[in-house]
Amino acid sequence: MNAAPISTAITEAAATPVLIRARDVTKVYTLGDQVVRALDGVTFEIAEGEFVAIMGPSGSGKSTMMNLIGALDQPSTGGLEIAGQDIAHMSSDALAELRNRFIGFVFQQFNLLPRTSALAQVMLPLAYATPKPADARHLAEVRLAQVGLANRMDHHPRQLSGGQQQRVAIARALVNNPKLLLADEPTGALDTKTSEEIMRLFTQLNGEGITVVLVTHEPEVADYARRRILFRDGRIVDDRMQPGIPLVSRPTSAVAPAPDAVEAAAS
Ligand code: ADP
Ligand code: MG
Repeated sequence: MNAAPISTAITEAAATPVLIRARDVTKVYTLGDQVVRALDGVTFEIAEGEFVAIMGPSGSGKSTMMNLIGALDQPSTGGLEIAGQDIAHMSSDALAELRNRFIGFVFQQFNLLPRTSALAQVMLPLAYATPKPADARHLAEVRLAQVGLANRMDHHPRQLSGGQQQRVAIARALVNNPKLLLADEPTGALDTKTSEEIMRLFTQLNGEGITVVLVTHEPEVADYARRRILFRDGRIVDDRMQPGIPLVSRPTSAVAPAPDAVEAAAS
């Protein structure tokens, strides 16, 4: 019987919409007469609600990939869709709009403004939102409270620990209510204990339905993610689910549930 697998596949596709779809993506940099193939034919899908760690040695193309799925840059060739929109063929205005509506980005070095309060940092992206929300201050306060900084809103970066600064950066990434949270080595500048706190925060946010994709060198950090994608020389060399970590939102096709389980979850 061939019918059953097909109907299961349709049920799954409906249950977990694909948020990121990369098809044979390349990114080539040319510096003088030197050509660097930073990405060399990368294909994968990430469904809504996933928590993915991207790993791999330095120079393997991780940050290049993150910049593409963050709509900060475009592939040289290949197809890349984010939330159903074709990144490869969009104007820079359309990319900016997509980033504003769907994507939050967190960096290793926090990228905060020096003489600016936590509250003002988190309000900043809302100044570029269309329409501009009337309650920007309230939205920023809610996000700072969510990351555990309700009593640090008036502090400047130098008055905050590294972990607190990264929480401000996460609140700033969340203030536009993104579907997708991207983090490029978010714990790279933090000690072990603080890294664990930040990873618990990402886990909590994923539990609230946000798709999380992060880059890390550290296996302890990657352990928080349900799926691990390994890059080497601009290619994916491994892509696997980690046992024992349930997907908070919904199952993906890699762990196909019985169709009645899907119906039970949907009801
Ligand atoms: P990773 O984040 O895994 O360390 P990157 O994606 O930053 O790797 O880099 C992949 C490769 O692309 C490296 O060889 C790097 O030197 C090169 N590269 C990255 N960005 C640029 C750029 N803007 N111009 C030229 N080469 C680049
Ligand atoms: Mg990098």
